[in-house]
Amino acid sequence: ESFSEFAINNQLRNAIADLGFEKPTPIQAQSFPVIMSGTDMVGIAQTGTGKTFAYMLPILQELKFSKDTHPRVLILVPTRELVLQGVEEIEKFGKYSSIRVLGVFGGTNINRQKEAVAEGVDILVATPGRLYDLVISRAIQFKGIKKMVIDEVDVMLDLGFRFQLTNILELLPKKRQNIMFSATMTDDVNAFIHDFFIAPKTVSV
Ligand code: AMP
Repeated sequence: ESFSEFAINNQLRNAIADLGFEKPTPIQAQSFPVIMSGTDMVGIAQTGTGKTFAYMLPILQELKFSKDTHPRVLILVPTRELVLQGVEEIEKFGKYSSIRVLGVFGGTNINRQKEAVAEGVDILVATPGRLYDLVISRAIQFKGIKKMVIDEVDVMLDLGFRFQLTNILELLPKKRQNIMFSATMTDDVNAFIHDFFIAPKTVSV
């Protein structure tokens, strides 16, 4: 497989060239067409397989410039470290696009995060606990969210975030695309998919 088999704009092509990616990884080759088709997707893949770009390429390909301040893409990850890593990676993938990426996580000053959110964000990367606090205090509005990704959902459920995750998903617009990645398919993960996903396609490596 080659990147040229997929509809990819020049900004992304240039970013891929700068990163030195020669061809899609197996999880990417499987995920791109599913995510691009707009259906919900469950990806079973470990860290190191290129799963972040598996969902970010289709998302960046579709995301057009907007002056809207509210986020349009929500990426949920279990830990502060994964928020920081995610933001760093997305900034590299989106370096030639004018997308605004912001990470929010607990254990830091919430007021500074509220100010950053107010400046405008396209892609929000967040841990569930802090995101829930920001939504409840009306610092973040979900009305523009078109796509939601939950990365490492198995870890998130193991850490006890089910309650926050459920609350967040219930506040999101009904019409949205759901994408999830998990290293393993557990009963917990399955129950979660059943509750919130619509006819998801499963891809795994
Ligand atoms: P991840 O599984 O998302 O943590 O990605 C693992 C590493 O693979 C990261 O350093 C990515 O930048 C890198 N990577 C992602 N996609 C590709 C690709 N198509 N070719 C080579 N490296 C990649």
